[in-house]
Amino acid sequence: KRRQQPHGKEALVKLLRWHFGHAEFRGKQLEAIEAVLSGRDCFCLMPTGGGKSMCYQIPAMARPGIVLVVCPLIALMENQVTALKEKGIAAEYLSSTQTSHAKNKIHEDLDSGKPTLRLLYVTPELIATAGFMSKLTKIYSRGLLNLVAIDEAHCISTWGHDFRPSYRKLSSLRNHFPGIPILALTATAVPKVQNDVIESLGLQRPLVLKSSFNRPNIYYEVRYKDILNDVYADLCNLLKTSGNVCGIIYCLERSACDDLSAYLSNNGISCAAYHAGLNDKLRSSVLDDWISSKTQVVVATVAFGMGIDRKDVRIVCHYNIPKSMESFYQESGRAGRDQLPSRSVLYYGVDDRRKMEFILRNAKSKKSQTSNSQDQLSKKSLDDFTQMVEYCEGSGCRRKKILESFGEQVPASLCNESCDACKHPSLVARNLEEVTNTYATRQRYGFSHIMISRSENMNCQDLSEFWNREDEASCSEEDVSDSDDDNDVVRGLGRSKFQKKSGLNERIDFLQRAEENYYRSKAPDKQANKSDKNAIADA
Ligand code: ADP
Repeated sequence: KRRQQPHGKEALVKLLRWHFGHAEFRGKQLEAIEAVLSGRDCFCLMPTGGGKSMCYQIPAMARPGIVLVVCPLIALMENQVTALKEKGIAAEYLSSTQTSHAKNKIHEDLDSGKPTLRLLYVTPELIATAGFMSKLTKIYSRGLLNLVAIDEAHCISTWGHDFRPSYRKLSSLRNHFPGIPILALTATAVPKVQNDVIESLGLQRPLVLKSSFNRPNIYYEVRYKDILNDVYADLCNLLKTSGNVCGIIYCLERSACDDLSAYLSNNGISCAAYHAGLNDKLRSSVLDDWISSKTQVVVATVAFGMGIDRKDVRIVCHYNIPKSMESFYQESGRAGRDQLPSRSVLYYGVDDRRKMEFILRNAKSKKSQTSNSQDQLSKKSLDDFTQMVEYCEGSGCRRKKILESFGEQVPASLCNESCDACKHPSLVARNLEEVTNTYATRQRYGFSHIMISRSENMNCQDLSEFWNREDEASCSEEDVSDSDDDNDVVRGLGRSKFQKKSGLNERIDFLQRAEENYYRSKAPDKQANKSDKNAIADA
């Protein structure tokens, strides 16, 4: 109980103004800071852009000694340390990417009885090494460890979207350093993840702080692919009419990133593709160009994620429906971190919905062979996805749907016409009606028709792959979409094979298996084994 000097609100506000130039604390910042300064563990849930870093940076300035910050990404550490140094704050990070000279300097400082460092950023892997742990223990026993802050704390939870095995090793910290407060920070709003984080880190009687997830500066909108003539052209037009601002477009598949990026570039948009299929060098140059405003728009898979630190993103588009509200919130939330008006536009199409459902279902069947809990996880994924579909297919306030999915009660007035459903209710209703009619017509042809006629990735060659046939007949969209005969739907797609399967259930089974083969062979960016050393996670 060495460190329990009182820090009045005024003194803390002074530190905020002096070091960071902000007039007042935001949201729950002050409560979190006061809690950790009084020695209490704290779990802090704040949306992206909410100002989580201040919750450990101010305590670092409040007294001598070290605040240890555990951070999953080197890029994120570098950004923060550079920004702190620019403000004259003694901050460093330790990572494999540093020269041994730089590392030695930091170690010398840590070994001295009176370190000048205030903030030390490290990876979870480093915490797990015996060498670093014994160094930390020395610092602790000299009374110089003030706080352990764990950024992106949801990475410890297998329920979260960014589980990192290395985070599991942090569970020993609580026992190793009794009396030192642990501050867990995350923007992940799922209650299950929150509980898991608190339990896994062994937080003791933590002060649990949850901020509202409302992002009032983001305008939410859904556009319906099935009633748009040309989705690419619509997107291009959207970016142009938004004034060629900084943006991110998320796509499910790498090939779509390349394709869309090429289209947009050819049409005068300053943009580049980014996905796990590119080599490291190319990826970091795309990222650097975007961060430094050389390019304005990145067309990316979810590989473009955590650690993307550009505050002036004005627009985030989803070219495909994301897998959950959680992912959607994180991704769209990369817009407007500077609090200025920004936009989220999701392009929704029934094919994308089916594609995603298939992916989630398929994950289930693979996992169910191994364990029950994974099976449950996949069921949860499908349930999560339903919320996302409701967001797109419902006519009610989008903001309300987002916030309610995170368990927040929302008054009707909250949106303030900041989504298409509130601002243009009749237009949204008309669009939805048109979409429903389109589905109804297409449903007459069976679900294969929907998939075949609309999925832009399925040209004739792809279809050949889809049906696993060598002697693919040529077909065009017209071939399938103009027909009102069920059997004609599969014209050119192995009709004889198809006709042999005359019963409806058999047909569905046949189609489904073919569909599964297709997607298995084209498995989109898999959640690869993430290397924590790699600054950007694989998609
Ligand atoms: P998070 O980690 O929650 O996404 P950051 O810590 O990166 O958010 O903060 C987001 C932005 O908000 C930063 O530009 C930061 O300087 C700013 N910020 C943080 N706290 C305050 C505050 N009290 N007043 C004004 N701006 C703040």
